[in-house]
Amino acid sequence: MTMNGKAVSETPKQYSYDVVIVGGAMYGSSVAWFLATNPDFDGSILVVERDPSYSACSTAHTNSCMRQQFSREINVRISQFAAEFVKNFRENLNNDPRVPELVLQSYGYMYLADNEDFADALRESQAVQASCGAGTKIMTAEEIKRDYPFYKVDDIVAGSHNLVDEGYFDGGTLFDWWRRSAKEHGAEYIGNEVVQMELDSNGTRIQTVTLKSGETLSCGAVVNASGPRAVLTSRMAGIELPVEPRKRYTFIFDAEHPLDRDLPLTIDPSGVHMRTDGAYYLGGCPPDDDAAVDYDDHEQDFSIWEEKAWPAIANRIPQFEAIKLINSWVGHYAYNTFDHNLILGKHTKVGNFIFANGDSGHGLQQSPAAGRGIAELLTYGEFRTLDLSPFSFERIENNEPFDEKAII
Ligand SMILES: Cc1cc2nc3c(=O)[nH]c(=O)nc-3n(C[C@H](O)[C@H](O)[C@H](O)COP(=O)(O)OP(=O)(O)OC[C@H]3O[C@@H](n4cnc5c(N)ncnc54)[C@H](O)[C@@H]3O)c2cc1C
Repeated sequence: MTMNGKAVSETPKQYSYDVVIVGGAMYGSSVAWFLATNPDFDGSILVVERDPSYSACSTAHTNSCMRQQFSREINVRISQFAAEFVKNFRENLNNDPRVPELVLQSYGYMYLADNEDFADALRESQAVQASCGAGTKIMTAEEIKRDYPFYKVDDIVAGSHNLVDEGYFDGGTLFDWWRRSAKEHGAEYIGNEVVQMELDSNGTRIQTVTLKSGETLSCGAVVNASGPRAVLTSRMAGIELPVEPRKRYTFIFDAEHPLDRDLPLTIDPSGVHMRTDGAYYLGGCPPDDDAAVDYDDHEQDFSIWEEKAWPAIANRIPQFEAIKLINSWVGHYAYNTFDHNLILGKHTKVGNFIFANGDSGHGLQQSPAAGRGIAELLTYGEFRTLDLSPFSFERIENNEPFDEKAII
């Protein structure tokens, strides 16, 4: 197996590891990095990645944005940690001079409400965000037009906008350095696939994982960081998970008449979103028929651009009547069908099976807090910084959805 033309070993160096991480993309590498760099953790870490080119994973298809505009305090705090982590990236990586500084381009999100019920929901969420110190402001249609004259606002009741620590960041560089630094701190990465797990006779511990190449390894704990394939991994431990792969379409376009200022990540009432993307613009949306798809189905459907995304974009910003599609891709959300939020931490019965799953459409920005939290759980047996227990698997067993209203 190769990555960037370099051979990636398929073969583990040991037959026993304290922690085996299944999936080496954003979540797997966040967990590996926070664990490997924690001075209180002295165990061994194996990261198993079935596709070291990372060409099909969610991380490679992300829109890489972060927002403080959530309705639940814990989600706001998670993004605030992400913003601090990104803004102090080199410092967080031990002031390593090879590590680039990351910029959080805070042009903000702009949620547009075309009815009073949604405007009220935005106002309620703004109060939660403000209590956490976020800079979100509710704007009237006139205020939106004043600050961003290019929007058509005649159907808009209110907007919710935040220019502090909210916008785009370079998630690819964050991922690359987590992986590189985790390896340098002793985490072992292999290009292989976990295909089976063996539990003890009580069904309370995973004793071994088996690789596609045939090796069977004993393990202290297993972390499920398998993205949209999370269900396949959890089934190896006899656990059902409400996560499925759902397609999300991204379109990069050039405008004949570019805007005179940054376009915030605009959440249009149609469900289409758009934002500045360097010299270009990015738009995206779900399909109308938002069903689970095959794990390998990344086929583009240009009718979604023609019939859904472009009309909504040109309607909201008439200046975008004349635009040219220059790139596009299809990625999978690891879509949590239960409540669209993270599923994090230990399984209630199989105590050494750890979830890092279901992050749906806001997982990239949650990866620093999730990785840190899981590293704490594995090192100390508890969350030490942010209490991430609201995301436990137990809530699914108890049928108590985590009610987050701001889902994209
Ligand atoms: C189009 C799109 C736009 C998005 N935009 C945003 C955004 O703006 N902001 C935001 O915060 N989030 C966004 N997200 C979500 C974010 O990208 C994901 O939540 C995040 O990348 C998930 O990372 P992951 O490591 O969990 O999953 P993945 O990146 O999918 O990685 C899982 C890895 O596990 C490996 N694997 C699976 N099974 C096995 C196995 N049995 N053995 C070994 N390896 C295995 C896979 O090969 C894969 O590399 C977006 C997602 C998409 C698709």
